[in-house]
Amino acid sequence: MTPDLAAISRQGSTFRRFREGDRVYGSLQDAIFKAGWSHKCPTYVHKSSPCQGACPSGHDIRGWLSIVRGLDQPPAQMSWQEFAFRRMTAANPFPAVMGRVCPAPCEDACNRNEVDGHVGINSIEHFIGDWALANGIVFDEPASESGKRVAVVGGGPAGLSAAYHLRRRGHAVTVFDDHDALGGMVRFGIPGFRTPREVLDGEIARILAMGIDVQLNTRVGRDLTIADLERDYDAIFWGLGTQQGRGLPIPGVDAPNCITGVAFLRAFNEGRLQSVTGQVVVIGGGDTSLDVATVARRLGHVTQVYEKDRPASDVFGQVAHDVATTARRRGADVVLTSLFPMERMMASEREIREALREGVTIRDGVMPLEGLKDPEGRVRALRMCRCTMNGMTPVPIPDTEFELPCQLLVVAIGQKGDLGDLAELDNGNGFIAADRRYCIPGRKGHFVGGDIVRPHLLTSAIGHGRIAADGIDAYLRGEEPARRPRVDAVQFDLLDRLAELGRAPAEVCEPVRGTATADFAVHNYDDRSAQEIVTHEDLFLGQFDNTPRIHRRQHEVEADAVLGDFGERLFALSEEEATAEAKRCMSCGLCFECDNCLIFCPQQAVSRVPKAERAPGRYVETDYMKCIGCHICRDVCPTGYIQMGLGE
Ligand SMILES: Cc1cc2nc3c(=O)[nH]c(=O)nc-3n(C[C@H](O)[C@H](O)[C@H](O)COP(=O)(O)OP(=O)(O)OC[C@H]3O[C@@H](n4cnc5c(N)ncnc54)[C@H](O)[C@@H]3O)c2cc1C
Ligand code: SF4
Ligand code: SF4
Repeated sequence: MTPDLAAISRQGSTFRRFREGDRVYGSLQDAIFKAGWSHKCPTYVHKSSPCQGACPSGHDIRGWLSIVRGLDQPPAQMSWQEFAFRRMTAANPFPAVMGRVCPAPCEDACNRNEVDGHVGINSIEHFIGDWALANGIVFDEPASESGKRVAVVGGGPAGLSAAYHLRRRGHAVTVFDDHDALGGMVRFGIPGFRTPREVLDGEIARILAMGIDVQLNTRVGRDLTIADLERDYDAIFWGLGTQQGRGLPIPGVDAPNCITGVAFLRAFNEGRLQSVTGQVVVIGGGDTSLDVATVARRLGHVTQVYEKDRPASDVFGQVAHDVATTARRRGADVVLTSLFPMERMMASEREIREALREGVTIRDGVMPLEGLKDPEGRVRALRMCRCTMNGMTPVPIPDTEFELPCQLLVVAIGQKGDLGDLAELDNGNGFIAADRRYCIPGRKGHFVGGDIVRPHLLTSAIGHGRIAADGIDAYLRGEEPARRPRVDAVQFDLLDRLAELGRAPAEVCEPVRGTATADFAVHNYDDRSAQEIVTHEDLFLGQFDNTPRIHRRQHEVEADAVLGDFGERLFALSEEEATAEAKRCMSCGLCFECDNCLIFCPQQAVSRVPKAERAPGRYVETDYMKCIGCHICRDVCPTGYIQMGLGE
C-alpha cells in the first residue's frame, strides 16, 4: 500500500522524519548514493517481533495475526479460525482464558504503540479461544507413544501446560492435585466474572482429552511421597503454585477478622463466602487485592450480623447462610490501600479502572502501621500514614497518620509456597529453585515451573511449563536439555511452512554471495528470530495510517448496581472486528507482501516469487545482477525485513 501523505497529514501522523524546526532538506542523493553502486545488497532477515519477545508463554503472535488477517492461508478443509487456533496453541493451550485475564505484556511491547496504539492482541486471542470452544475443536492425540511416564504435581496453569506439551510428544502424563478440580488459582483465586467456569472447564477438558490421567484430592508429600513418584515415573514436574498468603508485618493484626486474600478468594470460589461485613479494608495493589475488593463489592454486607455470619467464619468453613439474612444485604464499603501510587500499582490498568467504577475506594501511597483492636480482640481500625517508596521499601511521611476503620481486614500482599510436607524442595524462602531450563539443581529428573519458582502471571506459568516440557523430553531421551534461545518463543519456521505447503526446497543452504541458481528455500534469507527482536526504529512507520484500535465491549458495572452482579465483564470481538483489528498488525520482522520494494526499486531488480513457490516470508526476491545497492527497498520496507548486508 502506498502511503497517502495527504491523509496522514490530515489525521496527524505520529511518525516524524524531521524534528520540529528542521529547515534544511539536503538532497537524499548524497545520503543514498555513495557511488553509482554499493557492495551492499538486500538480504531478507526474519526477526522476532517485540510482541512475541514480550509474551512469557512464547506465542507466535505475528504468525497467528497473519492468519486472522488472511495473509497466511489455512490448508484445504480447515477454517482460518482453526488454523489460527492451532498456531496459537503451539505455545499456549488456554487462549480463551488468556484472552480474558492476561494483562498482555505483548501489547505494551507492540511496535504499533509508536503509531497510534498497540494491536488488540489479547482481544483477538479471546475471539479465537471462544470460537474454538464453541466449535468443539480438540487437540490431536500424539502420533506415537514414547513409553515414558511423567508425574505432574499441581494442576494449575504451569502443571497443565507441562502436561499438554509432554503429551504432544507422546509421553504418558499423570496430573496430581490436592483440590477436587483442576485449574489452580484460575479456579480458586480469579473470580468467575473474570473467567467463567465453563470456559476454564472447556479448555482443561480439551487438554485432558489428549489422554492425560488425573488424580484429584491427592496431596503429594502427604498422600504420596517424593520417593513414590521417583519409583513410578521417569520424570517429575512440580507446579505447586503459591498457596499461602503472606501476613502483614505490623503489630495488632493477629485477629479473627484479619485474613489473607487467597483464603478470602478460595472461600468465595468454593461457595463458602456469601457476604462480607461493613467496611472491608484490603491491603495490596496487585491482582489478588483487586479481585478481593471487586468480589467484596459484589457480595455486599448483611445489615444484621450474627456470630455465625461473620465472614472470617465463612473462610474457615463453618457457615451456611440463611435466605433471610442475605435478603438484608447492602453494598459493602471497600477500601483498597496501596504503598505505591495508583499508576505504579501492580494490578493491570483495566482492573484498576473497573474497580474504581464499581465503587472501590483506592487510597494509594499509604502504609499500615498497626492494627487497633476492639475489646473483643477484633481489628476495628488500622493506624496508617502516607508514604513514599524507596525502591520496594515504604518510607513514612511524618505527621500524616490517620485511622482507617475496618470490620474485615484482607491482606493481599503476596504469596509463598506451602512446602511444609515437601521441605526437601524448599530453597529456604518458601519457593523451589530452578535453572534457566526449569530443572531443579541437584535433582536429576525433577523439573519445576510457575509461581512456586517466581510468582507472576498465568502466561509466565504456562511458559515455564512449555520450557520445562522441552527439558523433560530431552531428559527422557537421555540428552542434556538444550540451551534456550535469547527470544524464547515458538517462532514461525519458513522451512516447516514450505513443507506444509508441499513446497519444501530441494536444497537448503546458508546465505550465499550473488544470485543463487540452486533451488534454495529463499536466496539470501536469514532466520534470526531466535536471537533478535525488530524495534520500531527498524520499521518504516510512515507506511501506516492512523487506524484506531477496535475495543471489546464491556459490561461496565456502576457502583450502585454492582451488588450481586456476577455476570462476565468482557465480551469477545465479532469475526469482522477481529479480522479488522488483526489488519492493524505491522508484521514486524517478516514480509507482509506490501510490494513497496517492487514498486520503488529503480533498477527493477526485485520481483515476486512465482505463486506456486510462495510462502509467508518468501514473497519477493532480488536479482543481484541488476541490484546497485541503493538500499531504497530497505528504506521503504515497513516491516524491517530487508537489511543491506550481502557482500559484507
Ligand atoms: C487472586 C489472583 C488473581 C490473579 N489474577 C491474575 C490475572 O488476572 N492474570 C494473570 O495472568 N495472573 C493472575 N494471577 C496469577 C496466576 O493465577 C498465577 O500466576 C498462576 O495461577 C500460577 O500457576 P501455577 O500453576 O504455578 O500455580 P497455581 O495456579 O497455584 O496451581 C498450583 C496447583 O497445585 C496444587 N498443589 C500445590 N501443592 C500440591 C501438592 N503438594 N500436591 C498436589 N497438588 C498441589 C494447588 O492446590 C494448585 O491447584 C492471579 C493470582 C491470584 C491469586
Ligand atoms: S498470553 Fe498474554 S502476553 Fe501472550 S499473547 Fe496472550 S495476551 Fe499477549
Ligand atoms: S505490530 Fe504486529 S508484529 Fe508488530 S509488535 Fe505489534 S502485534 Fe507484533
